[in-house]
Amino acid sequence: MTTVAFLGAGIMGAPMARNLLKSGIDVTVWNRTEAKARALESEGAAVASSPEEAVRGADVVITMLSDGDVVREAITAAAPGLRAGQVWAQMSTVGVAAAGRLAALAAEHGLTYVDAPVQGTKQPAEQGTLVILAAGPESARLVLSPVFAALGQRTLWLDDDGASIAGTRLKMATVSYSISLTAVVAEALALAQGLGLDAALVREVVTGGPMDNPYFQLKSKAILEGDHTPSFTVTNAEKDTRLIVEAGESAGVKLDMVAAAGARFRRAQAQGHGDADMSATYHASFEAS
Ligand code: NAP
Repeated sequence: MTTVAFLGAGIMGAPMARNLLKSGIDVTVWNRTEAKARALESEGAAVASSPEEAVRGADVVITMLSDGDVVREAITAAAPGLRAGQVWAQMSTVGVAAAGRLAALAAEHGLTYVDAPVQGTKQPAEQGTLVILAAGPESARLVLSPVFAALGQRTLWLDDDGASIAGTRLKMATVSYSISLTAVVAEALALAQGLGLDAALVREVVTGGPMDNPYFQLKSKAILEGDHTPSFTVTNAEKDTRLIVEAGESAGVKLDMVAAAGARFRRAQAQGHGDADMSATYHASFEAS
């Protein structure tokens, strides 16, 4: 049976670990705030009090933490428990520069590095329908096959070398789309509201027409109902806008939309919406909301 050390039980990590447990995989969870790991105990997870304890003896190590620095710290803390040849699937969104550094860190510890960020938010994580954007060798694909099958509806294997960070490169493009789309939906609704109309009229016009899509429905619903329960926090989305802008700069590609979306998130953070869903970017259109 495959054994997994799961580092990170946040909005994404907790339901992902739960799906592994449901599929019969043996999971040990570590999370900085231990209560979130403990919440998985009744579903069969073992809880580790340190990354080192979690990774010891595991076939696969999964990281689903906030950013590259946090992932580096966790793997460094895990080092005494790591074993050469262990597969490390790095699934957090860390950006191209950090993903390259993490691949080097894996090589230092003799780990088989699989760059495997995901597209999809809280609900797809709960439903096991994420799209996994992966790069790694054939040997790791075999080990990860039941793991990724439990987490996602499909895995795109993009390169046979994790150090190519092809998954992270593709993730920069796809998360750029979801973040920019959210900002655009929020601005359209905010403008209608500001012009003295019921913002719901925008949804009425778009629904069922060529501009409609499930994402528009999801984010416009959140905004119109004022329910910004987080699927993807403003803080993590802001982090991604910086990573995407950096990726564009490193490739000589000018990215205006996502930089503007980043400015909106920073305003929303200053208004106190950092822990809210990124749909709270709506508030960044108004001075004091
Ligand atoms: P989250 O709920 O904010 O969880 C972040 C995780 O990182 C938690 O386990 C948190 O621990 C841990 N963490 C943060 N700072 C830490 C530190 N200094 N030391 C140790 N642990 C720390 O975020 P999420 O939504 O699950 O996202 C996780 C990753 O997936 C991020 O890279 C995000 O960009 C990416 N992602 C998110 C989505 C989405 O829609 N939510 C979709 C795709 C990818 P605590 O519980 O102790 O705070």
